[in-house]
Amino acid sequence: MQSVEHISINGEWVTPQGTERFDLFNPATGDVTGQVRLANEADALNAIAAAKAAFPAWSQTRVGERVAALTRMREALAACEEELLQAIVQEYGAPAARAVWMARYPVAVIDQVISDLQQFVFTSQVGHARVEMTPLGVAGLITPWNSNAGFICGKLAAALAAGCTAVIKPSEMSAWQTQVVTRALHQAELPPGVFNIVTGRGEVVGEVMSRHPDIAKISFTGSTMTGKAILRNAADTFKRVTLELGGKSPILILDDADPATAVPLAIQAGFINSGQACIAGTRILVPNSRKAEYEAALAQAVASVKSGDPHDPANDIGPMVSEKQWQRVQSYIRLGQQEGARVLAGGEGRPENSGQGWFVRPTLFTDVENTMRIAREEIFGPVLSVIGYQDDAHAVAIANDTDYGLSALVLGRDVERAQQVAAQIHAGRVQVNTLAHEAGAPFGGFKHSGIGREMGRWGLAAFMEPKTLVM
Ligand code: NAD
Repeated sequence: MQSVEHISINGEWVTPQGTERFDLFNPATGDVTGQVRLANEADALNAIAAAKAAFPAWSQTRVGERVAALTRMREALAACEEELLQAIVQEYGAPAARAVWMARYPVAVIDQVISDLQQFVFTSQVGHARVEMTPLGVAGLITPWNSNAGFICGKLAAALAAGCTAVIKPSEMSAWQTQVVTRALHQAELPPGVFNIVTGRGEVVGEVMSRHPDIAKISFTGSTMTGKAILRNAADTFKRVTLELGGKSPILILDDADPATAVPLAIQAGFINSGQACIAGTRILVPNSRKAEYEAALAQAVASVKSGDPHDPANDIGPMVSEKQWQRVQSYIRLGQQEGARVLAGGEGRPENSGQGWFVRPTLFTDVENTMRIAREEIFGPVLSVIGYQDDAHAVAIANDTDYGLSALVLGRDVERAQQVAAQIHAGRVQVNTLAHEAGAPFGGFKHSGIGREMGRWGLAAFMEPKTLVM
């Protein structure tokens, strides 16, 4: 068993003043693999002070210097891809293909930010006024467990590109990954204090950051409930806040779709990251006229999804991240049945031969009403609901009848019609006949799925304040 004993303040590894320890698990076996020593309030204050001291110099750097620093960051992270991959599989149980994508994402996202920075228009003329985009100050970056390394790197790259300095509060459940990333950031020789990493509890370190007057901006990715707490805590100091929150994304299978392509895409969208993804397409809307046909095809597809050892590339999905999350998914499977939905595939319990790991059976419900809790609440596991609709207008109404608005997928043969449906969906991102994503396009949610956008010029501008000089 190994422990994660250090945090990073002012460019150096330091022992936290906090003494609480938090167990780290391998979700594929349920075994404790180590512990992380958690930072406390005093550590958070030290990190904020270091970031504040580093801000004046960093905010004055030229674009070329920032590009050079981001390039060093990218090179250092590229060199530790294999180590990051091991940490991701051990700590999340992410299945092989997904884990490889996640281990490469830090480099990919920094490349994107470098390109966004090189194209960013910092100064523009509006009549007699000159408008300058100026960095906000110290940014507090708070990440969830489900793509911790990727979010640390994406948020930090954007903050530094904008001229901000940063205090990062990673998920305490992802301490191995954080350690790999921190080592790479030290190797990148960024000026001391421009980034600081304090792994601690959200209600301790995260709260200090959300309330502290020397933090100008919080960029948070995580649950909608935590997002609300952060928004409230940030109100007294009028922090700028970007929130990337949960989802209950619809997949609209139009009546002219080809089941041979629609079904595999729907399953892939629903079970992304073992269903533990904000963008997971968990409500599958099918035309009533073809409901029986889709139920049969989807049930067959779900039954053939393999849940098991994430090291085995034959497995499509891995375990839930924690026992708590395993219990939560089980309780939603029970709830769905109590609410009157019918299980078409999977169900309660563990898949065969999965040992003590936190594996769940990929599950498909049908006869789901959009008013049921399984259709309204984020389950964060491989549990999908089939909901029937009458016509396109009804499908759009069901799709939009949700508190969330992060992502949606529209599948249909007539592309013009599919695009017309897509135009009516209230979500930050709608994919039509594809699961592809454009990395430089803005990403974020409508309604309770968040506030603001990350990525592209929108993501950089979110770390800046426009300043108008009238002459
Ligand atoms: P979470 O909200 O429990 O925790 C996220 C982070 O917030 C952690 O670092 C946690 O320690 C911290 N935190 C907890 N309480 C806090 C507080 N009071 N103040 C400040 N920080 C606090 O979420 P999670 O379980 O780690 O992640 C899963 C959630 O994240 C899901 O809801 C998922 O949909 C969402 N998510 C959203 C996106 C997106 O881009 N929209 C991406 C990934 C995950």
